[in-house]
Amino acid sequence: MKPQILLIYTGGTIGMIKDPITATLQAFDFAYLIEKIPELNLLDCDIHPVSFETPLDSSNMNPSHWIAIATIIEENYQTHDGFVVLHGSDTMSYTASALSFMLENLAKPVILTGSQLPIGDLRTDAKENLITSIQIAALQNNNTAVIKEVGLYFEYKLYRGNRTTKINAEHFQAFASLNFPALVTSGVHLKVNHEILHKNYSQARLVVHKKMNTNIVLLKLFPGISPVILQSILEIPTLKAVVIETYGSGNATTEDWFLEAIEEALDKGVFVINVTQCAGGSVSMNQYQTGKTLQKLGVISGKDMTTESAMTKLMFMLGLETPKNMFKTVFETSIRGEIS
Ligand code: ASP
Repeated sequence: MKPQILLIYTGGTIGMIKDPITATLQAFDFAYLIEKIPELNLLDCDIHPVSFETPLDSSNMNPSHWIAIATIIEENYQTHDGFVVLHGSDTMSYTASALSFMLENLAKPVILTGSQLPIGDLRTDAKENLITSIQIAALQNNNTAVIKEVGLYFEYKLYRGNRTTKINAEHFQAFASLNFPALVTSGVHLKVNHEILHKNYSQARLVVHKKMNTNIVLLKLFPGISPVILQSILEIPTLKAVVIETYGSGNATTEDWFLEAIEEALDKGVFVINVTQCAGGSVSMNQYQTGKTLQKLGVISGKDMTTESAMTKLMFMLGLETPKNMFKTVFETSIRGEIS
């Protein structure tokens, strides 16, 4: 039997087509998918399209939509061999990261893709992204899926979803994964980097986690950051955790007002996570005094996680009500290949 692929359209440029009369971009009706993209008939798999009732620009995505995607996957998990999620590129790395945490014991491919130009555009990148994503989702070895994780496919590369960041609003190569190599590269052949793929040897069934706690904040440091502003953010009564994007290898100012504000937040039970604002590389709080001070206070290291991954892992761990005494250890441990 051919692999059965579920194609989930959530919205974004990829599913848009120009109305020939009004010349405006409109969401494409996925019921006519094969009719509009006959190339899909040549693929050696069966494609079943489903669509969000109201397709979204991904800037409007929030955890309720991640739960909706995870639920569609859960409900179709037994009957399908792979899942392709069509999604706007703007927040695709957040959704890919969130899904990687929400889908525990995943043993089938979940491939997110999108495009910079609509599928109906003459120069579109949508067709290649869509066709290759479906081919990758259908890859099998001895009747089992080759990819057993959440990936993001764009412009000839499949990346581990929770390692990606959108880096360009103009180029077809819109995503980068600077701390982890591509899982698959598409050229004349599909080159699978088998050694680095997530291996799921367990027979455990898929568990879908649907609680995400959003009482968190992201704070990017910059020279001149104001004490009052930092203090007021950290005083928000419902705040559970803060991700601080620090400089370089995890360094921050050692001025008293800053360290006192962090210490007070930690004393109140707010988790403080350190990720670097550099696109690549890792937090290593041992390297400079400016990092060591944070480490001594009890700040958690995000190591080489992306900001997208750190934010969604936090929502997931807070949703799970991970006990306080285990929080730092679990956060600093790779659970879905998000840390090197
Ligand atoms: N604004 C669009 C979105 O993220 C851009 C895209 O589809 O790539 O939904």
